[in-house]
Amino acid sequence: MKKSILFIFLSFSIGMSAQTDSAMIASIYQEALVNGECYENLRVLCKDVGNRIAGSKNAERAMEWGVRVMKGYALDSVYTMPVEVPHWERGKKEVGCYASKKSNECFDIVALGGSVGTDNAINAYVIEVKSIQQLRDLPEEKVKGKIVFFNKAMDPMLINTGAAYGGAYDIRSDGPSEAAKKGAVGCLIRSLTLADDKFAHTGGTQYQDGVTKIPAAALSSVDARLLSQALVKDNELLFTLHLTCKLFPRVMQGNVIGEIRGSVHPEKVIVVGGHLDSWDVGEGAHDDGTGVTQSIEVLRILKTIGYKPKYTIRAVLFMNEEFGNDGGETYARVVKEMNEEHIAAIESDGGGLTPQGFNLQGNEKQLAQLQSWAPLFEPYQLFRFKPGWSGVDIGPLKNDTIGLYGLSVDSQRYFDFHHSNNDIFENVNKREHTLGAAAMAGLVYLIDQHETSK
Ligand SMILES: [Zn+2]
Repeated sequence: MKKSILFIFLSFSIGMSAQTDSAMIASIYQEALVNGECYENLRVLCKDVGNRIAGSKNAERAMEWGVRVMKGYALDSVYTMPVEVPHWERGKKEVGCYASKKSNECFDIVALGGSVGTDNAINAYVIEVKSIQQLRDLPEEKVKGKIVFFNKAMDPMLINTGAAYGGAYDIRSDGPSEAAKKGAVGCLIRSLTLADDKFAHTGGTQYQDGVTKIPAAALSSVDARLLSQALVKDNELLFTLHLTCKLFPRVMQGNVIGEIRGSVHPEKVIVVGGHLDSWDVGEGAHDDGTGVTQSIEVLRILKTIGYKPKYTIRAVLFMNEEFGNDGGETYARVVKEMNEEHIAAIESDGGGLTPQGFNLQGNEKQLAQLQSWAPLFEPYQLFRFKPGWSGVDIGPLKNDTIGLYGLSVDSQRYFDFHHSNNDIFENVNKREHTLGAAAMAGLVYLIDQHETSK
């Protein structure tokens, strides 16, 4: 008898809580979709600040923008956390031209982030390979003194385009050093994109210690095909490469942070974030202007609807994800030194595209809890709640107890924009972007109500 009364009571309260949760999530979506401000904030970041590579004047202006926007929402506190970042400048527009007996052409190339310059232009024959392994298998005399052209495409059969990117990424990160080990004087890569177009995509390269640093640039997918075809017709093809990019001493910039203090456990934190820096091409709209504006929007929504969180909810706009993850590393180190407990972190860094759910890097209990919330998100067409990648910036927070969540979006078009002049505000859809912010606010609310870390 007692047992059944308890059972009825428990079912009743669970039912009540689900009802309250669904009503709260409905009001979160209403505030986002009717009064949302993240798209306008993104417009200002993209158009008034523009692209903002870490170490640049524009990155400083982006920090000022972040402080100004969050102060405008009268959060409990808004501050910056010093972060030391690299300072690399692209210099003048790159030159990349070939001349052979059959044809000649100039391409719209971009230096890879961190690349050394060429001093004067270099002129060298080109050797094409499809992979790093193919390069390793070549005798040194075939490569020495040449420009290695890594013509490796992202795998079109991978429906998760992030996985396709991961599968081709090595040509950009390791290609230049691997080519230098064989005596190459320069490196060209096919852009990491699934699009068939004329946009060249940059991104960081990582020179290996003790290996000669050679200049490296990316060609668009169409230009990579043209160069490959030209090499078939005449393999004595001379390529002129002129890069004036340069690495300068590191400088201090910072993460920008805003928070709503917890009403029950102010010392425990739920982080929501994205990265404020971008590459120095396009406007850093999808990567990651959308993530930072969505993160700010989470706080704005919760505050506007009058929600009083139990835990401290903190938006972190990380500085320098793109070229060393200094913002994420510094943040994790500082909060550890301060003994701040983080119960969850949520990142949006897959573009402001249609949200599909959340990935989780966490334990079984957190996964079961996330999946138990699926019915609450179903009306908003979020269906994916699976183990998976969360985000680079929040990665260093990983420990045994924290749940790391990544907003999962429709990834098919993301690499059309990523790190290129095509990553502009006009290519972000207001509704898709806003739906992502609402989903993140919904998850923050649920974690705040039903703590997941223990
Ligand atoms: Zn990013």
